Amino acid sequence: ERRRVDNFGAGPAALPLEVLEQAQAEFVVYKDAGMSVMEMSHRSKAYEEIHQRAEALLRELLAVPDDYAVLFLQGGASLQFGMVPLNFLTAGRRASYVLTGHFAEKAYEDAKVVGEVHVAASTKDDGYRRLPSVEELQWDEADAYLHITSNNTIFGTQWRSFPDTGRVPLVADMSSDILSRPIDVAKFGLIYAGAQKNLGPSGVTVVIARQAWLETCRKDIPKMLRYDVHAKNRSLYNTPPTFSIYMMGLVLAWVKAQGGVTEMARRAEEKSARIYGVIDESDGFYLGYADPGSRSRMNVTFRLRTPELEQAFLAAAKDAGFVGLNGHRSVGGCRVSLYNAVTLEATERLAEFMRDFARKNG
Ligand code: PMP
Repeated sequence: ERRRVDNFGAGPAALPLEVLEQAQAEFVVYKDAGMSVMEMSHRSKAYEEIHQRAEALLRELLAVPDDYAVLFLQGGASLQFGMVPLNFLTAGRRASYVLTGHFAEKAYEDAKVVGEVHVAASTKDDGYRRLPSVEELQWDEADAYLHITSNNTIFGTQWRSFPDTGRVPLVADMSSDILSRPIDVAKFGLIYAGAQKNLGPSGVTVVIARQAWLETCRKDIPKMLRYDVHAKNRSLYNTPPTFSIYMMGLVLAWVKAQGGVTEMARRAEEKSARIYGVIDESDGFYLGYADPGSRSRMNVTFRLRTPELEQAFLAAAKDAGFVGLNGHRSVGGCRVSLYNAVTLEATERLAEFMRDFARKNG
């Protein structure tokens, strides 16, 4: 059977049906190119246009200032864990990291390999259920940068506002909430995000960086690891992930047609409120994981009272056509990911299923 399920997976995640259908329609022969995007030279005119349009759309949707570079790289957000310190954590400098979850820890661990790192704050002792307040952050004017994770995919927490770091570049891993709300890009020195949640399929990683800072990067490292090399070549230093960039371009055009990031934020509020509502009104049948003040609009995490009940819930959900609700393998529990392409209708079907399951098993 070829029915599409309701996909609440954490990533790679649901893509807009319209985007998939458009890609399907032009898969074998793209416009007048006589071939698939997959078969095109990355130096061809047809591809050049795809590449530039994706960049222009991302700039427009996120209101990226002109003095920022937009890069399309490979290696996932995980390569950025290493690239950021390799480029900017030079000898004699120190970088500060805010530890708010699994991926923040990974970024911190990679930076530690490169140079001196400092923990600006950690909520590990609270099980990463909450984010630190801006007042809790300890960093220094002399730091090479301060690193945060805007949305913690596994624990389900999300920064609502960002610290003002003045002259210290703020670096943010926005993998799981980029394009879900308006952001003031000028507050950041560098933003990075793997595409496979809100931007498109896996294979491309977006970097948005202040050009003047980017140019201060180390030059004594291999060229593929240098931000300035990618910026100078407009992400065409080597063969980019052409098909992923093409797909991202379609997703960006879809977001624009839907009303842009303001509309995405409105939908994220609405969808997450439906699921949090079920949790909060369930009399403890569903136990929300994140502290209410730190809750994410992208990843809603919760548990049930016993592992057995949790397994029964996940199995029944699967039977009912809801996919991707397992928590991350490192923490277990349940997680509902509500990225841009997840519809309100699918979210309401799941909310109804959850209420029904609680009624029958409470
Ligand atoms: N950071 C965050 C916040 C993530 O959610 C993920 C992936 N789930 C990563 C980093 C790692 O991304 P990638 O697999 O693209 O390297």
